Amino acid sequence: MNYHILTLFPQMVTEGLNTSIIGRAAEKGLITINALNIRDYSKDKHRHVDDAPYGGGAGMVMQPGPVCDCYEDLCRRLNKRPRVLYMTPQGRVFSQAIAQELAREEDLVFLCGHYEGIDERALSRIVTDHLSIGDYVLTGGELPAMVMIDCISRLVPGVLNNDESAQIDSFHDNLLEYPQYTRPEIYEGMQVPPVLLSGHHKNIEAWRRQESIRRTLTMRPDLLENASLTKKEQEFLKALREEIHEESACAQEYSVIE
Ligand code: SAM
Repeated sequence: MNYHILTLFPQMVTEGLNTSIIGRAAEKGLITINALNIRDYSKDKHRHVDDAPYGGGAGMVMQPGPVCDCYEDLCRRLNKRPRVLYMTPQGRVFSQAIAQELAREEDLVFLCGHYEGIDERALSRIVTDHLSIGDYVLTGGELPAMVMIDCISRLVPGVLNNDESAQIDSFHDNLLEYPQYTRPEIYEGMQVPPVLLSGHHKNIEAWRRQESIRRTLTMRPDLLENASLTKKEQEFLKALREEIHEESACAQEYSVIE
C-alpha cells in the first residue's frame, strides 16, 4: 500500500507515522509514506498558497493551483490517477468498513486542508472521496489522515504480527471485542474469568463470543442491527435484553422505595 499525503506540513505526517507498528511496516516496505509539500507547487515568489475568501469572511482559503499541480505532478510520476481522499468535517464519517474497502487499493492520496479549507474548484477537479473522522472541527487534515492511515495499514497483510488480530478487533462483524485479561491472575482481589485459564479452546471461544455480544449490547447497541448472529446467539441476545430490562425495572422500583 502506498500512501501519498498532500499537505502543508509534511513533517507532521512523516514524524507521526514513523514509530511502532506503522513505522516498522514502512521499514519492511509493506507500506510507503510519501508526504508531498503543497507549498513546493506555489508559483508565488513568497511561496504563498492561501488567500482571503471571495465574498469576505474570516480566515484564509488554500488556493486551487498548488493543490492541483501537486496532485498532477504525483500522477505523472506514478503514471496513474489514484483515488483522492479529502479530509473534511463535511465528509462521510470514517469507519472500519470504509477502511476495509480502502485497504484494497494500491495507492491512496490523502488531501489535507488547513485554515478555512481548500478552494472548491480544486476539490471538484481532483477529489474522489470526502471523509471525516467525526463531527468536530480540527485545524488541519493531517491528524485525520494519520488516523485513517493507521487504521488502513492494520489491514494490510503482514503489518500486524498476528494477522488474526484484525479479524477479532472491535467492529469486525459489527461486534465489539470481548474483554481482555493478562497476568497477574488476581489483581487487587479481582480474578481473571476462570474459563480463560481452563485451556478449553472451544469454551473460551464461546465465552468470548458471548461477551462480545454482551459488550456490544451495553456499549453500542446500534451495531447489533447489522451483526450476523447464529440462531443460538440471537436467543442469547434476547435473554440478555430481558435481563437488562428486569435489572433497570428493579433499579427504578428501588429508587421509588428509597
Ligand atoms: N471551514 C471548514 C468547514 O467548516 O467545513 C473547516 C476547515 S478546518 C478548520 C481545516 C481543515 O482541517 C479542513 O480543510 C480539513 O482538511 C481538516 N479537518 C478539520 N476537521 C476535520 C474532521 N473532523 N475530519 C477530517 N478533516 C478535518
